[in-house]
Amino acid sequence: GRTPLIAGNWKMNLDHLQAVATVQKLHWTLKDAGHEEGSVDVAVFPPFTDIRSVQTLIDADRIPFGLGAQDLSAHDSGAYTGEVSGAFLSKLGVGSVIIGHSERRAYHNEDDDVVNAKVKAALKHGLVPVICVGETAEDLERFGGSAVPVAQLEKALEGIPTSADIVVAYEPVWAIGSGQAATPAQAQEVCAALRAAISRVLDAEAAARTRILYGGSVKSGNIAGFMREPDVDGALVGGASLVVDEFAAIVRYQK
Ligand code: 13P
Repeated sequence: GRTPLIAGNWKMNLDHLQAVATVQKLHWTLKDAGHEEGSVDVAVFPPFTDIRSVQTLIDADRIPFGLGAQDLSAHDSGAYTGEVSGAFLSKLGVGSVIIGHSERRAYHNEDDDVVNAKVKAALKHGLVPVICVGETAEDLERFGGSAVPVAQLEKALEGIPTSADIVVAYEPVWAIGSGQAATPAQAQEVCAALRAAISRVLDAEAAARTRILYGGSVKSGNIAGFMREPDVDGALVGGASLVVDEFAAIVRYQK
């Protein structure tokens, strides 16, 4: 079976001092609650400037959290002012990287070709790409839930090896930060369609092992409903990941 993954995308929140305090507090909150390590994978995705501090803390205190970045460059090195190479992330002990978040697609003009190039860059440097897909409210009305995210994922996976270790996040744009989450049934329908797409573009084995997350206004009060769905393997949490007790309650959705 697929181990559930609860991931916190901090977006542009928490400086490196706040990051260290937050990760420490999350670790102790889960420990105090008797959370069983390994039953659910937990990962945090802080801003670049926090990563070194969080990595040092995780390492020193043996905190069992995955560490990810929110973006990477499609290039390895060179004259790309302001960009961060996957090689640097990898060397810092970063294990995964969010690619194609709707905020990057919308504010930084990242199209499916850029996303595909970044997925290849991540894999080249040993990072697990967390590939984000999702439809806008307008897409939903015109094409239904699945068509746009499936097309985005097919493009993102073009030319990658069937053995690739990836994570997919279904994040309907209309549900992000809106307080209006998808229903578990809506999430299940699209996540099942995304799994079928992985099977077509890669193979059945890749489809069976790949974790597909739901994201968009996830909180402690609605996580259990999503996790009951067979094709939803976890959540990518934005706002609620910044509040330690709330994020810990999401991680402990089984309780
Ligand atoms: P919210 O949980 O704040 O809706 O954000 C979801 C998201 O974009 C995670 O990547």
